[in-house]
Amino acid sequence: MSDICLLCKNRKVYHIKSHLTPAGITENTYGERDSEHIYTIDAEEKVIDEYYGRNHPQQENIEIKKEPNSRKGIFCKKCEDDLGVYESALQDKLNELINSIGRDATVNRVDTGTKYVDIDIYPNVLITFFLSVVWRQCLEQTLDGKDIPLNPEQFEELGNLVVDYIAVPIKEMVKRQTLISPVMSIFTSYNTKTAATYANPHPKNTNPLIFFIGPVVLQYWLTDQPTNEFEKITHIDRNLLDKSLTLDKSRLAIVNEGKWEKIHYVVAQTLARQYLR
Ligand SMILES: [Zn+2]
Repeated sequence: MSDICLLCKNRKVYHIKSHLTPAGITENTYGERDSEHIYTIDAEEKVIDEYYGRNHPQQENIEIKKEPNSRKGIFCKKCEDDLGVYESALQDKLNELINSIGRDATVNRVDTGTKYVDIDIYPNVLITFFLSVVWRQCLEQTLDGKDIPLNPEQFEELGNLVVDYIAVPIKEMVKRQTLISPVMSIFTSYNTKTAATYANPHPKNTNPLIFFIGPVVLQYWLTDQPTNEFEKITHIDRNLLDKSLTLDKSRLAIVNEGKWEKIHYVVAQTLARQYLR
């Protein structure tokens, strides 16, 4: 592999482990860093695997496995540090908010009745962070030789936005006008800490595209019009496509646990079909 950073395509990589989906977000559902328990399903290679972090109590054998969602030597020091700044600004606050839903969080409703909570994080910081997560998940798919839901131009444009935005210090970022970006929105559910979730794009390409990010599901709009039968394909209610719930408003929508389970189940089902083929 080339020793040039895959993000800025300019500086040399340094050899540290990079999380493709930020560990701070997924630890809310996978368990703490180094104590994770992660399942991976590779429908194309037909492999199901289990990964335990090195400090996980179930770690019984000494077999050394590659940790899912991370790679060594793909980013330069600056890009890694810049990504880290946005992760630190956001992840604890977001995890706390998610875990407070159903407890002491103030839940509001939009006109269509969909529930949401306000995220106490500036829209530009949220947008930058989630753009970087989408880009990194697509990168991971590419590194694994899998298809990605973006075409090469869209993937490259997204990478360029990420490099530009993460280089902006947060102090300055919060004073800027709302960033130019594909429209995104996120939703979660109650008790995601104990629910099965994923860290990958939805195996079916829809508009908006769907990305699973541990306790959050992200919708990423490529064009204005949703895919025909979006609800039937994804089990995500049309109400969640409402423009009053987008990330530039710092809102996190909430679906009930049954719906959350169903949305995730559909993915497992799709992968299982591919696996059996
Ligand atoms: Zn770089």
